[in-house]
Amino acid sequence: MLSLQNFAEDRLAGLEARGQRRGVEATDRGGGVWVERGGRRLLSFSCNDYLGLSVHPRVKAAAVAAVEAHGVGAGASRLVTGDHPLMGELEAKLAAWKGTEDAVVFGSGYLANTGIIPTLIGPGDLLVVDALAHACIWAGSRLTGAEVVTMRHNDPAYLDEILSARRSQAGRVLVATDGVFSMDGDVAPLDRLAEVCARHDAWLLSDDAHGLGVLAGGHGSAALFPGADIPLQMGTLSKAVGGYGGYLCASKAVVALMRSRARTFVYSTGLPPASAAAAIAALDIIAEDPALCARPLSHARAFTAALNLPPAESPIVAVVLGASDTALAASKALREQGLLVVAIRPPTVPDGTARLRIAFSALHTDADVARLVEAVRPLLLEAAA
Ligand SMILES: *Cc1c(COP(=O)(O)O)cnc(C)c1O
Repeated sequence: MLSLQNFAEDRLAGLEARGQRRGVEATDRGGGVWVERGGRRLLSFSCNDYLGLSVHPRVKAAAVAAVEAHGVGAGASRLVTGDHPLMGELEAKLAAWKGTEDAVVFGSGYLANTGIIPTLIGPGDLLVVDALAHACIWAGSRLTGAEVVTMRHNDPAYLDEILSARRSQAGRVLVATDGVFSMDGDVAPLDRLAEVCARHDAWLLSDDAHGLGVLAGGHGSAALFPGADIPLQMGTLSKAVGGYGGYLCASKAVVALMRSRARTFVYSTGLPPASAAAAIAALDIIAEDPALCARPLSHARAFTAALNLPPAESPIVAVVLGASDTALAASKALREQGLLVVAIRPPTVPDGTARLRIAFSALHTDADVARLVEAVRPLLLEAAA
């Protein structure tokens, strides 16, 4: 079809002109933070595998054993025959670790948010979303038919204003935020958001994709705020947990509702058994080793201190450089020195805030961090000049 071909080519040309065209590059991560790309070995600061569990011998062995015992795929939706025995064990472990009544596992974090949000909220309801929330929260929001309002980033007073003005006209109200923001690395003020939500009978959903395993002894961002009522705690098994899958920790009733009604749970094949087995092994390691869980943040703090940046709140540090070209050039310069640090550009982040996004891992050594500091220092000076 010529029209299809023309459409794709025109769109690509437009993206190219705006510096927004993207592509994939084969990357072998078999060595954890040492990756191979284009025949070169690079030290990566771009993986979300914060604890190196994707390559941990115990985690790999658990996955291999599960493949031998149960095969490679779930074979059907979990509601049909895809609920292999490891799933229940994984869900019990997640609920216990997060301190909730129950948990439900989805195929991925993206599938979790696009399933959870429209199960709880619909036409006539109100959904308030932090301006910098992850793309899959926005994707879930679009599926609701509810009125969607953007909340100024990390601003509980603003949330209070929105809810004071609009709560009475809405049916149910959901407030959705990242616990740790994926592109900035800052932590949401979950205690104050929870307090505002409680006063207005609004349900708080926190996405802990980047908190589990690395904050509060590995318990995640909600555990930084003991006592805060966060009834919907979702997250992913694909970052610090090292494998794949998404989850929601919540009350028994909410979890049961998801199993009956969340479309991405009902109509999508269950997680492969090996992914569940890997996550179980990884969660055991997280629970056993708080020192391991603390390392990524401690590296991030060493980095921000050395460069006089605001203290890191999570293992993610954004070095905002401004224009897409500047960020791409910085990433290229680092790569020439053997360091893999991706540039993140609009539309993933707001215009004018293209950046280097640095993710620290427990597998990095202090010397690795020092090397990155010296490589980034001149780039910061250049961008400021
Ligand atoms: C990565 C991420 C997700 C998506 O999780 P996947 O398991 O990779 O689909 C959701 N929310 C946030 C904040 C993320 O960073």
